[in-house]
Amino acid sequence: MARIDCANRLTFLSEHHKTLLSKHFSQPSQTAQPRELAIKLGIHYSKVIAILAVLAADGYCQNWLLIYHNCSETFVDRTPLRSGMPKLPYVCPYCEITIYNYDELKLDVMAETEMSVEFI
Ligand SMILES: [Zn+2]
Repeated sequence: MARIDCANRLTFLSEHHKTLLSKHFSQPSQTAQPRELAIKLGIHYSKVIAILAVLAADGYCQNWLLIYHNCSETFVDRTPLRSGMPKLPYVCPYCEITIYNYDELKLDVMAETEMSVEFI
């Protein structure tokens, strides 16, 4: 099991937050989307991004960029976050429409852990 020491980098987390996070990430191959995690923890979206950044910096998770298009309720594609924005024109793999403007896409981040992680 991996351990994230929150004392220096994630000082805004309470003991309750750490318990919830440890529970959420108690299984390997766990995914987390910032919006859902923000609601679960009752903290701001930007703080969840900080948590995911620490997880990735320590090598405990891979962060993905999720690509949404109006043709589907769920994401149509995902790329490693470090690869940056999808290149335009972008062909939606779901409906095969060619997209020329980022305004036609919605993007979100998803973390995927490789091992169970405890927040201490
Ligand atoms: Zn589409």
